[in-house]
Amino acid sequence: MFRIAVGGFCSRLPCLLLRTRGLSATAAIPVPNQEPDILYNKLFINNEWHDAVSKRTFPTINPATGEIICQVAEGDKADVDKAVKAARQAFELGSPWRRMDASHRGVLMNRLADLMERDRMHLATLETLDNGKPYTVAYAVDLDLTIKCLRYYAGWADKCHGKTIPIDGDYFCYTRHEPVGVCGQIIPWNFPLLMQAWKLGPALATGNVVVMKVAEQTPLSALHVASLIKEAGFPPGVVNIIPGMGPTAGAAISSHMLVDKVAFTGSTEVGMLIQQAAGSSNLKKVTLELGGKSPNIILSDADMELAVEQSHFALFFNQGQCCCAGSRTFVQEDIYREFVDRSIERAKQRVVGNPFDFKTEQGPQVDEEQFKKILGYISAGKKEGAQLLHGGGVAADRGYFIQPTVFGDVKDDMTIASEEIFGPVMSILKFKSIEEVIKRANNSIYGLAAAVFTKDLDKANYIANGVRAGTVWINCYDVLGAQAPFGGYKSSGSGRELGEYGLEAYTEVKTVTTKVFQKNS
Ligand code: NAP
Ligand code: MG
Repeated sequence: MFRIAVGGFCSRLPCLLLRTRGLSATAAIPVPNQEPDILYNKLFINNEWHDAVSKRTFPTINPATGEIICQVAEGDKADVDKAVKAARQAFELGSPWRRMDASHRGVLMNRLADLMERDRMHLATLETLDNGKPYTVAYAVDLDLTIKCLRYYAGWADKCHGKTIPIDGDYFCYTRHEPVGVCGQIIPWNFPLLMQAWKLGPALATGNVVVMKVAEQTPLSALHVASLIKEAGFPPGVVNIIPGMGPTAGAAISSHMLVDKVAFTGSTEVGMLIQQAAGSSNLKKVTLELGGKSPNIILSDADMELAVEQSHFALFFNQGQCCCAGSRTFVQEDIYREFVDRSIERAKQRVVGNPFDFKTEQGPQVDEEQFKKILGYISAGKKEGAQLLHGGGVAADRGYFIQPTVFGDVKDDMTIASEEIFGPVMSILKFKSIEEVIKRANNSIYGLAAAVFTKDLDKANYIANGVRAGTVWINCYDVLGAQAPFGGYKSSGSGRELGEYGLEAYTEVKTVTTKVFQKNS
């Protein structure tokens, strides 16, 4: 066991994360086996393991070394058809799932959460191996949020009810919240387990069935969860999990005539394809959680230490691979110099290395494609005249590690200030007035998140109201709880996930009206 102790021998990151998450600072993190047995690498359909119809497989890679971990069955359209058929059968009227008490759905979800708790070390290990995120973070943060999300939605299973409505005339009118049906869910690689829980939680609580495509870069943890879904006692066909490629398996889901809803998290570019596929097939319902270029605004009266540390966390957390990363750091001119100097110092201290090392704050980027894309953005930043203040290069001689990079004097029209980099590249911009910064913050196709650091809550609330973003953090960043909705304005998506709002996308509202006959009529 490795014990995280504040001020002790632990690295700063796990302690800070544990504290910001409100977890016990002495929470024990067990030392993992870095070469775990990979038990599941096939398609999960109807509670059984299948090879792909095509018999094809693809390699999943350890981004810390560039080496192959194992081969995984590659599902495509034929496999999606099989999974949709299994899901439809599980959703038949009178099926065990449809007849199950809502409270029992909640019991099964809590059982799944218990099993994830039991296998927490193994799941965190798979996550680190496949994605490259530091193991301490996978264990203490990703698994914590994932398990809490499932438990939160387990609680909703028997609380999602309709209304009685005083309609005109002699009628009794009520609404029922019914499941939408077969939900296609397509998830990304940046938080594989957490994104799986964000999708499964509301879908299962409300009685839907699921066909999920996991990201090609990170299929392993989701497949282990599939085995736990079976062990927890979910009936066959309720959850089906297909590893595979976007343009084949993903597109088969979004254009399927027998899929009732598709929920997607990933790039805005693919989000547009999903919406088009839904529109040109059966008009399935669509929810999208897409990219961002979130403004993080530091006013001159902010607590400097807090603002520097949180702005660093806002951008560099998860190797910079967060849809809501604070990737435009706007700093008021009178504190600009001090903020920049302190941000460089903080970036210099960031520990990059083997993600299984407990001191590591930053692991590799998820794959070679992202690695090259990020290096391309760094070159663009230099070419377009931003000031490279720290980093800017490759951080190891193998694997996909990039140095924590800080750019100053960034202008709004530079590529690094307008496009989503999805990597450890901080862009610092200077501003004069609050009116100016609100305008500049909103000058983006995105509107996922924003933050403001100030001791003046009047100013904070003025800015919070003025920015067009689905989430605004005041004097904090990346505080995401299962209870609070999350989603984007503008090209950052449509619909909300999490919280009570997150249930809406997974329910159809049925109005039932009964004639009430009067005694003397
Ligand atoms: P992506 O292509 O949007 O991947 C997200 C998911 O969509 C994956 O499961 C992917 O499959 C699937 N997909 C791809 N093309 C599809 C299609 N035509 N139809 C249906 N599904 C499809 O993202 P990426 O290529 O991994 O990353 C590119 C950029 O997207 C990143 O640099 C970042 O800017 C952004 N991104 C955002 C988030 C977020 O949380 N909002 C997460 C990841 C990436 P594959 O596994 O085959 O790719
Ligand atoms: Mg991988």
